[in-house]
Amino acid sequence: LFYLIDPVSRLVEAASQYQVGSAAVARIVQAERLETEEVDGPDARESTEPGAARPSAASVAFEDVRFRYREDLPYVHHGVSFDVPGPGMTAFVGPSGAGKTTVFGLIERFYDASGGRVLVDGKDVQEWPLAELRSAIGYVEQDAPVLAGTLRENLLFGAPGATDDDIDDVLVRARLDAVVRRLPEGLDTVVGHRGSKLSGGERQRVAIARALLRKPRLLLLDEATSQLDAVNELALRDVVAEVAREVTVLVVAHRLSTVTLADRIVVMDAGGVRATGTHAELVAGDPLYGELAATQFLATSAGVSAT
Ligand code: ADP
Ligand code: MG
Repeated sequence: LFYLIDPVSRLVEAASQYQVGSAAVARIVQAERLETEEVDGPDARESTEPGAARPSAASVAFEDVRFRYREDLPYVHHGVSFDVPGPGMTAFVGPSGAGKTTVFGLIERFYDASGGRVLVDGKDVQEWPLAELRSAIGYVEQDAPVLAGTLRENLLFGAPGATDDDIDDVLVRARLDAVVRRLPEGLDTVVGHRGSKLSGGERQRVAIARALLRKPRLLLLDEATSQLDAVNELALRDVVAEVAREVTVLVVAHRLSTVTLADRIVVMDAGGVRATGTHAELVAGDPLYGELAATQFLATSAGVSAT
C-alpha cells in the first residue's frame, strides 16, 4: 500500500500547522481514518493504460445497493438503484434520513455496500485502486469547514501541487475572484476562525474551489442547509451548472433553485429510490416530491430570477 497517499497524516499535519482544533476537522480526520482501513481488493488495478486519455466526466451507477452502518443497526439502503451515464447535474432529494448522504459515502468508499454494486465508470468501486478512485472525485461535504489559515492554504489543502494559474482559474470558476480582490491581503488573507469573515455562500464556494483544484471527474456536493442571500444563491447555482457541463455532478439538494436546474432528480425515501425525473415531471407525477417542493426545499430567495 506504499503508493497510497496517507490523507490522515496529511490532515493532522495541516490541522496542527493551521492550529485548528475544531470539531469539523476532527470529523474529517476521523472519516479519513476510517477510509484508510479499507484495503484495495485483490482485483484492484489501474483502470487505464498509462498516458491513455480518459473522458472528463465519470459515470456512476447503483445496482440494487443494500447497506447498513453496522450489523446491529437497521438497513439504511434497501436496494437503491440509479444510473448517471455522464456529465450533467443529478439532484438527490428526499426527507431527512432517507439515505442521501450515505450514497456519497458509498461512492467515495468510506464504507462498502452490504449487497448490490456501486459502479464508477462501469467498474465496481471495490475493484478500483482506492487512491485512483478518490483522485477522480471532488467531495464537498455539507457545511464544509473553512480552516483557520489563509485562503491560499485552504485551497491548496487537497491539491498541494497546484500552481497560481490553477488557483486563479478555480477562483473565477467558483465566482470568488471578486471576493479575493476585496480581502485585505488577497489570497494571503487569514480566513475562518478569528480571521476575515466569509459568508455562508462564500465558504461553500471556497469548498467547491478546493474540490475543483483537484480536477475531479465526479463532483459530489452535499448542499448546505443554511439559507443563502440572493446574490450567493445565484452564484452557487451558476457555479454548479457550469461545472456540470463537463463533469458529472451529484448534488444532495435542499434548494428549489438547484433542483429546477438539474438534468435529472432522484427522489429518495426510507432507503429506496421512489421516483426519477425532471422537476416538471416529478411535480406532476410524484406526491412526495410535490410536498417536498412546497415545504422542505428552501424557497428561492426573493429577487433571484428564474432564468
Ligand atoms: P440523509 O442525508 O438523506 O438525511 P443519511 O444518509 O445521512 O440521510 O442517513 C441515513 C440514515 O443513516 C439515518 O437514519 C442516519 O441516522 C443513519 N446514519 C448516517 N450516518 C451514520 C453513521 N455514521 N452511523 C450510523 N448511522 C448513520
Ligand atoms: Mg444528508
